[in-house]
Amino acid sequence: MQAKRKDIRALTRDQLRDFFVKNGDKAFRGNQVYEWLWQKAAHSFEGMTNLSKDTREMLEANFVINHIKVDQMQRSSDGTIKNAVRLHDDLVVESVLIPTKTRTTACVSSQVGCSLDCLFCATSRLKRMRNLNPDEIYDQVVAIDNESRLYFDRPLSNIVFMGMGEPLMNYNNVLKAIDKITSPEGLGMSPKRITVSTSGVPKLIRKMADDGVKFKLAVSLHSAIDEIRTSIMPFNATFTLSDLRAALVYWYEKTKSRITYEYVVWEGINDKRKDIDALIDFCRFAPSKVNLIEYNPIDDGVFQQASNKAIDLYVDLLEENGIVVTVRRSRGKDIDAACGQLANKS
Ligand code: SAH
Repeated sequence: MQAKRKDIRALTRDQLRDFFVKNGDKAFRGNQVYEWLWQKAAHSFEGMTNLSKDTREMLEANFVINHIKVDQMQRSSDGTIKNAVRLHDDLVVESVLIPTKTRTTACVSSQVGCSLDCLFCATSRLKRMRNLNPDEIYDQVVAIDNESRLYFDRPLSNIVFMGMGEPLMNYNNVLKAIDKITSPEGLGMSPKRITVSTSGVPKLIRKMADDGVKFKLAVSLHSAIDEIRTSIMPFNATFTLSDLRAALVYWYEKTKSRITYEYVVWEGINDKRKDIDALIDFCRFAPSKVNLIEYNPIDDGVFQQASNKAIDLYVDLLEENGIVVTVRRSRGKDIDAACGQLANKS
């Protein structure tokens, strides 16, 4: 009976080098394979053309490459592309390519489903099945980079961890994936072009600051009043706003990196003057940017996008208080690819 073959991309470069030495070959063979796996994103051992047939067969006998498969690609009328990504165990996540005139942004998933329970988000209705491995995150980025080159004639320029899942609940694998994405041995992208979006796990925001990460941080705030935030994001009862804020103060002191807040304004929920005042107060400790995101209805009509008047008041008051504010239109709504709509519906 054949022993279970190991996922070769779980090995570090040194472990791969050791593997070859133990099997009577040269350590540099490990470097060659590592380059195939990451820089060239090889899908099979067969395609590793600078290795001998014997070496390829030996790899095949010992390892698997658990590459993702883009099962289905949908294109929106606005150019947005959604990939349904099949994993080696047949679970499916989604990633999105968002084009603008000059940029291509990849929105990638970090978990299958999500363990958080934001009432307005479609992904929260899928139970969290498992964390994605670093290579499964990396592969989503490579797939979108290829699509960007093919359809838009340019490489991928930005990455946001705003797909399915809570990236900080899969901290180690997300950081490992970002290491590969930014390393010259991988895609060599600048960490400044990567944003990790979190619902706000205070302990892990502090850990990111301690770990000296170089990517950007976005926090899905939606309300700066505990009672309201807890009613729409129930985990806020555990990770309260004061803990979140203290962690963000710590983050800013260590990184001096501006924080972005994502924020949807809903009718009757957070569209009053007191909501705006609380938000201004919450952001005051550091340079901040507020992204007012358009609400993407997910079905039952409980949540309704607030009026333009309410949004305008947010914009005016935030600007008056020196807070950068953008109003972000949704992309890819017609194919359920917009924020909070990823739920494997296609
Ligand atoms: N769990 C992470 C990342 C995924 S969500 C986080 O919470 O940040 C990506 C963004 O989409 C978050 O800001 C989230 O609050 C927002 N979002 C979720 N559902 C939405 C919806 N129906 N309409 C608009 N934005 C939504």
